[in-house]
Amino acid sequence: MTVTAVTNWAGNITYRAGELLRPRSAEELRSAVARSPRVRVLGSGHSFNGIADPGAEGALLSLAALPPEVDVDTAARTVRVGGGVRYAELARLVHARGLALPNMASLPHISVAGSVATGTHGSGVGNGPLASAVREVELVTADGSALTLARGEERFGGAVTSLGALGVVTALTLDLEPAYEVEQHVFTELPPAAVDGPGFDTVMAAAYSVSLFTDWREPGFRQVWLKRRTDRPLPGFPWAAPAAGKMHPVPGMPAVNCTDQFGVAGPWHERLPHFRAEFVPSSGDELQSEYLMAREHAVDALRALDSIRDGVAPVLQTCEVRTVAADEQWLGPAYGRDTVAVHFTWVADTEAVLPVVRRVEAALDAFGARPHWGKVFTTPAAVLRARYPRLGDFGALVADLDPRGKFTNAFVRGVLAG
Ligand SMILES: Cc1cc2nc3c(=O)[nH]c(=O)nc-3n(C[C@H](O)[C@H](O)[C@H](O)COP(=O)(O)OP(=O)(O)OC[C@H]3O[C@@H](n4cnc5c(N)ncnc54)[C@H](O)[C@@H]3O)c2cc1C
Repeated sequence: MTVTAVTNWAGNITYRAGELLRPRSAEELRSAVARSPRVRVLGSGHSFNGIADPGAEGALLSLAALPPEVDVDTAARTVRVGGGVRYAELARLVHARGLALPNMASLPHISVAGSVATGTHGSGVGNGPLASAVREVELVTADGSALTLARGEERFGGAVTSLGALGVVTALTLDLEPAYEVEQHVFTELPPAAVDGPGFDTVMAAAYSVSLFTDWREPGFRQVWLKRRTDRPLPGFPWAAPAAGKMHPVPGMPAVNCTDQFGVAGPWHERLPHFRAEFVPSSGDELQSEYLMAREHAVDALRALDSIRDGVAPVLQTCEVRTVAADEQWLGPAYGRDTVAVHFTWVADTEAVLPVVRRVEAALDAFGARPHWGKVFTTPAAVLRARYPRLGDFGALVADLDPRGKFTNAFVRGVLAG
């Protein structure tokens, strides 16, 4: 058997696949799935671990050659989007019909199906993860047959943030709302006292979406990004000074690829991501990790990180703190709890970064931190089991829909092993 090597966006993971499948029609997709003993779908490859790796015996399936379906239903305010479509294309088409998604991640270049499969999120105390907009999932399951799971059904809790383990997601139907505009305001040098105590919740609720950035070289936050919907009140932000120039979240990086700042109003999809859709990042010189905890632990968790910042700072490009509203997906990192998410963009050096990842995990252990499924983590399976109360139900759903484990790879086995 010839083994083909494909790397992820960051270049830190090489998938070794026995076969690459690029079906051009729904019919080809179903027969490819039915005849392959092991399959993993590759979305846009923006995950940083082996989650999409089929292994040398398996097939890596790309949906890129299928027609990119985006069907907006303006009356119902929903969109049905194909399994290979990325947020950038989806957002443009939805906006053209006068509608909007409730939120977006920092980058619009990621696929919708891949993002919701890993629990991807933006920020905002009232905003759930991207998966919370999904109302229906269409799958091709192990025998090549079609299955639709809709919100309200018992199994739906495992169907969206599914780690790609239930089958090929051929389409998702998402809730939409009327289009809105957003202004982005960036502030610099937020002192630690502003978020130490009840101030944390006040600062994070100061706009529709709020992100804090630090390099952990000094206490406090180097930048605050506020994304204000223009249909909501304009908040005062007395705790830090407005940025004098356009900012990039990584200190010293040119801000040309970042979305517009200085309070210039623009369409939701050109402000909610930090990075512009027109800028095409083919590869990234970075690794990422992220841990999500109940929001009530935010202040203590930030103090715990502050106590190890001398170890964190040397391998860190930037650290972003966001909030996510509670979600009902069993494997959603915000499942059942309003959440604080602490993200790390590391330097691209796995050997140097992994020991620091372990230190961060130890520092956040007391707060029940759940790792982001698409990023670098070393949390053992038994700990995952304790932190995801519905992990057992998810394992049962996988066994039910895919008894021979066609869509299960080493990553999924590791998650279910606890
Ligand atoms: C620069 C950058 C910025 C990021 N910003 C954020 C952020 O703001 N917030 C955040 O939470 N995360 C963020 N991430 C993480 C990212 O959102 C996740 O890794 C996400 O999974 C990427 O989607 P993808 O399509 O590239 O997934 P892939 O890595 O391709 O796949 C992820 C999983 O989804 C499965 N999958 C993909 N498509 C399908 C399908 N059609 N059917 C079945 N399974 C499928 C794959 O098998 C795999 O298990 C960022 C990553 C990068 C590189």
